[in-house]
Amino acid sequence: MIGGCTLVEVKTLDSTPEPAQKKIASYLLISGDEAILIDTGPKTAWRVLEPQIESEGVALKHIIVTHIHLDHAGAAATIARSLGSVEKVFVHPRGSKHLVNPEKLWAASKQLLGPFADYFGKPDLLPSNKVVVPSDGEVLELLGGVRLRIIYTPGHASHHMSILEEDSGLLFSGDSAGISMYDDDGEVRLDFPTTPPPFKPKEYLESLDKMARLEPKSIAFGHYGVLNGEAVEFLKRHKKEVIRWIRVAVEYASRGGGDPDELARILVNSLPSAARAARARSPIISEFMFRGTVLGLLDMAVRGEGRGV
Ligand SMILES: [Zn+2]
Repeated sequence: MIGGCTLVEVKTLDSTPEPAQKKIASYLLISGDEAILIDTGPKTAWRVLEPQIESEGVALKHIIVTHIHLDHAGAAATIARSLGSVEKVFVHPRGSKHLVNPEKLWAASKQLLGPFADYFGKPDLLPSNKVVVPSDGEVLELLGGVRLRIIYTPGHASHHMSILEEDSGLLFSGDSAGISMYDDDGEVRLDFPTTPPPFKPKEYLESLDKMARLEPKSIAFGHYGVLNGEAVEFLKRHKKEVIRWIRVAVEYASRGGGDPDELARILVNSLPSAARAARARSPIISEFMFRGTVLGLLDMAVRGEGRGV
């Protein structure tokens, strides 16, 4: 707070490619007439995101990506190249080279995501002189006073970091604290883990503890929107829920199971949160997110990870 008014104004922007809506979020942090964008959405959503940023009448100075998956950072290079105001793109050290040269990321995404890779689009190449790699625990001071703490939060991906806005206690969790969003009917809020391959259960659970220790007040989810208050409670509840999902997968694999469709059915029959995710009207939820979670849990269990959690 400065002089009684909040230094940073946070806007939730919709970076979901058409025709879907409100499944992928970007956040604009505005201070004066300048702004920082946390997550960019996929490249194919830039045409819907650009007018939202433009209507704020601010100069976009910096981009921070929680991780390099196409739905979070796919438009980073496109934005940095098309808006002359963008000075820096902050990314986890394990992700930086894939923003500069996305060929490997694109090939892996095509293989894992099928039609969703084309729906999200192939990322452009980011000029390497824009890339900044912050360290774990570093507090970035941007736009003359916005304080953002970087927290490495591996598990969902090895290149995942979360960001805590120090003054307000708002945590930008990307995909490190699961999904908490509405389906297309907008009535039931869905909470479930997002654990695509190669999911690392131990790191994921440690990351949840690490975020809870910082005592965030609210959470801004990559999918989708801000949960005001009860952030630590949410993280603790989510941890218990992820453990339930992991245990189902481990038990299935221990019986020799290896079929993702069968594991999906077992999850749906054993966990209400899985049933809600699998039956969501939005294919982004039921086919992209839930499907990715099942594949990652199966891969984890077959690799022998996740036992004893
Ligand atoms: Zn995501």
